Amino acid sequence: MKERSLYIHIPFCRKKCRYCDFYSIEYQKDISFDYIDILCSQISNLKGSFSSIYIGGGTPSILDLILWKKLLMSLSDLAKKSQEFTVEVNPESLNRDKILLFRDRGVNRLSLGIQSFDNIKLKKLGRVHSQEEAVTKLILAKDNGFENISIDLIFGVWGQNFDIWEKELETAVNLPIKHISIYCLSYESGTPIFKQLKEKKIIPLDENLIIKMHNYNNKYLSKKGFMQYEVSNYAKKRYESMHNMNYWKNNEYLGLGPGAVSFIDGIRQRNVGDVRDYLSRVIKGEKVVVFREKLSPLKRAKESAALKIRTKEGIIFHWFKVQTGFDFMDIESKLIDELIQNGLIRYKIHRNTKIGIYLTSKGFLFSDTVSSSFL
Ligand code: SF4
Repeated sequence: MKERSLYIHIPFCRKKCRYCDFYSIEYQKDISFDYIDILCSQISNLKGSFSSIYIGGGTPSILDLILWKKLLMSLSDLAKKSQEFTVEVNPESLNRDKILLFRDRGVNRLSLGIQSFDNIKLKKLGRVHSQEEAVTKLILAKDNGFENISIDLIFGVWGQNFDIWEKELETAVNLPIKHISIYCLSYESGTPIFKQLKEKKIIPLDENLIIKMHNYNNKYLSKKGFMQYEVSNYAKKRYESMHNMNYWKNNEYLGLGPGAVSFIDGIRQRNVGDVRDYLSRVIKGEKVVVFREKLSPLKRAKESAALKIRTKEGIIFHWFKVQTGFDFMDIESKLIDELIQNGLIRYKIHRNTKIGIYLTSKGFLFSDTVSSSFL
């Protein structure tokens, strides 16, 4: 099957988290009923199949059960043909009825937004659940048929100490999960924590402590059987997210919903960001796409490099040639020398031949810099 992904955006949350700069609005039933109706009709017009489906947000689990029934009914044919079907869920809005519905309608992977196993940290971040609730819901999902569960965690939060982070990771690996996404807290402009930082009400964590935590993540998680396969992602063997890998391989994807991005036939486009605007455009028969660009073959190749270098495997030159039509060393050789000299990447050698490049541990720490240098 051609690897092609479908992303469906659910832009509703119970309450805005203090660090979040993603677009979402407070859950409102009237808007969400209209929104799901529109999504269902868009889904019924889709052609072909998708190797992975991902319903993300926002907080998809916040939708009422009746809306989930509608949405999953409209996806039932596509779900049968997909290999991986993920729904993002948050502890406060997940319940047994929704878990059973997901399971029975072809969802085979849950991504649970836990963020922390420390209640003080959860409060600081403005999360609306407790660590106890997160664990209870995770076990509930496991006991009701989900064996492929991923969790998200955040480290590097101001005031956090290393011992608590150690304990959080220990709690995580002792739960029935197969995948962990770990992000370092960033202070995005426009967020409440950014404002507090500017007002000096927050003192960010020392950089050396962040590096220590990052290095510990890799060491500890690999010991526990979670292998790092991308800068922020760790998985048990064969549980790497297919949907994520499709992005990083620069394969095609279709995004539905406000702000969703699609990449089809070398054209990247983005939908209007506001959900009310999205709804009114669809109702009036107007276009929802507000940005469109055709990528030249070279630009597409460079983007492939920037995405794929973030994976543990790195860039295999043969794969790159097949994927993009370009010889990697023809377009990036100067840069490679520089990155190697700076200790950020290394050659992959097979039988005395250079077959690719990959990030060093230092490179993983500065992955954004390495990645953007390819563009
Ligand atoms: S639940 Fe997720 S999307 Fe919603 S505000 Fe919090 S971090 Fe942002």
